[in-house]
Amino acid sequence: MTSTFRRRSLLAAALCLVAAGGAAATALAGREDRLRKDVARLASTEWEGRRAGTEGARRASAWIAAEFRRIGLAPGAADASFFQPFTFIDGVVLGPGNQLMVGSASGFRAGEDYRPLAFSSPGAFEGHAVFAGYGIVAKDEDYDDYAGLEVKDRVVLVLRYGPGGDDPQSKWAAFTPLRLKVMTAREKGARGVLVVTGPRTPDARDELVPLRGDASLADAGIPAFSVRRALAAALFAGSGTSLDAAQQALDDSGRPTPLALPLARVAGVADLTPKRSTARNVIGVLAPQAPSGEAVVVGAHYDHLGLGMVGSLDPAPDGKVHHGADDNASGVAALLELARGLAPRWRGLARSVYFVAFAAEELGTLGSSLFVKEPPRPFERIVAMTNMDMVGRLREGKLEVHGVGTSPAWQGLIEQANRAAGLTLNLKQGGYGPSDHSPFYAAGKPVFFVFTGVHADYHRPSDTADRVDAAGMARVLGLVEPVVAALAESAQPVAFTRVAAEREEQASASRGFRVWVGGVPDYSQEGPGVRFSGVSPGSPAERAGIQGGDVLVRFAGREIRSIYDYTYALGQQKPGDHVEVVVSRGEGDVTLTLTLGSRPGAVR
Ligand SMILES: [Zn+2]
Repeated sequence: MTSTFRRRSLLAAALCLVAAGGAAATALAGREDRLRKDVARLASTEWEGRRAGTEGARRASAWIAAEFRRIGLAPGAADASFFQPFTFIDGVVLGPGNQLMVGSASGFRAGEDYRPLAFSSPGAFEGHAVFAGYGIVAKDEDYDDYAGLEVKDRVVLVLRYGPGGDDPQSKWAAFTPLRLKVMTAREKGARGVLVVTGPRTPDARDELVPLRGDASLADAGIPAFSVRRALAAALFAGSGTSLDAAQQALDDSGRPTPLALPLARVAGVADLTPKRSTARNVIGVLAPQAPSGEAVVVGAHYDHLGLGMVGSLDPAPDGKVHHGADDNASGVAALLELARGLAPRWRGLARSVYFVAFAAEELGTLGSSLFVKEPPRPFERIVAMTNMDMVGRLREGKLEVHGVGTSPAWQGLIEQANRAAGLTLNLKQGGYGPSDHSPFYAAGKPVFFVFTGVHADYHRPSDTADRVDAAGMARVLGLVEPVVAALAESAQPVAFTRVAAEREEQASASRGFRVWVGGVPDYSQEGPGVRFSGVSPGSPAERAGIQGGDVLVRFAGREIRSIYDYTYALGQQKPGDHVEVVVSRGEGDVTLTLTLGSRPGAVR
């Protein structure tokens, strides 16, 4: 009897349980009802979009744990509870010590006239001011706000937005992120940056930039403040011109003429500290004492974007509940229903099954990364991971399945299960992707990830429960349940294989890179630098000798402090470029030469 044959016969037995006839139809209707109800519960307005670290997410996690208990799962965390808590950096809080003075004028008020940017470095700075237009350097456009300007040890005043204003369609839009402007000033040796909204910028008011963190945990490397025009005006005192005139005084290249402001000495202190929040994975286990001592993990993240945050695609997301019904109440509802399906069969299981509702996926797979680092049982006893993220929008029976190439076992299991499920499968080999299976694959586990695809409501407040298709979810479970059951009921080894080339399935695909490197960023890393949790085989990164665990600190001569720095640095390269990169590995730094590849269109 081959292992494949044995697995298939187990699968056949599993399928027999969903016998034909009226009883099955009733069971199916019950399943759809429960899925619908659970999605509606999780996506309710009351839980405010379940952003990691909020009360809504905490209450959702408590509810999931109660459901796990009701279903008959045992607490699965290492401390014999249902929760695996962790802290993460969740934005910044301002301290009382913020200061900004221009010359002897110290009457400016924090929060009124100036405020540090959320990614400012903390600490004191001072220097003479220079005006650098929009702070944009765009080689391809032959545009450089810094050309001819001495910036070293100065404090740079730049205009917010670009010559095209705040228009996202403008050719300047790619150059207007504040992180990029501060990075550019830092690379030119500036001691600090002040950002003001120009009086001539259309439809833009004289307001301070809100103190909102972004997805990176690393600061910008120098202090950076948002200032109002009254403060900026003080910088121009004695210069013979004004902010208004300087914005309009365009030179031959169409940029506001850069200007030293030697009479204006700026001194300031940025007092801000990272704010820590707590989130928790919810872990339930079936058959904790399974005969083989091995375990299978099934996961779905329960967090979403809350009341709008980085990641929202709504043009004005603040304060709107992002329900996240498909993303990912659907996956959690399917996880609960899978547990209900398997729980009565615990005596027949050869392996334990961990059901994990992951926290803080939207902030960069923080919960699943923690689970991989601190698993509730020795990591080598975990044989495979199944992930459901966005399974609520099945259209025409089409399902994306990722990770098929991460174990020779998957193909047969999936084909067999799909005979009954009858879905149109779009099989993808790669195990990396922007969800919770990625850290498991990076750590060497076979992964199986199902996904019904993106849609117009993705990451918008309109991803609501009424738009989720419970019948479609039940069909997805018709594929996933027999696969997981077969894994859990068998003690046969599940081999792990690395996928040769998976460039189209890179985690970074949605981030607009034109070039391909093949390193998989670990978003749970608390900077500085960009840590790679893994490297795609056959990728430029692998060919250059980059390894999983390396932390990228320099790229093409530029210091890399955060994922943003890396993104911007990549954006200025072309496929085929040779660039020098420095990674820290263990105690030392390693310098490598990377030949950049090209990347086909973004997957999602
Ligand atoms: Zn999402």
